[in-house]
Amino acid sequence: MKFPLTTQLVEEARRFGLRSACHDCFYWSAARSECWHGWPDEGQRRWPLDVADGATEAAFCKEFELR
Ligand code: SF4
Repeated sequence: MKFPLTTQLVEEARRFGLRSACHDCFYWSAARSECWHGWPDEGQRRWPLDVADGATEAAFCKEFELR
């Protein structure tokens, strides 16, 4: 799912310690550097969220499972 990447989202993600990136997910294989389910992970790999790089969207995976 994609959401607008706003400064409010970035600030709240920082303040509340939001973790939603692949490297925080149970289904991420660090050894293989890919998702165990084979999902595309562009956007989801990127962390921390930041608007400084000109990005306008954030991606959140529906299958994310916090490890
Ligand atoms: S399930 Fe989603 S969040 Fe988890 S590793 Fe795969 S793509 Fe990333």
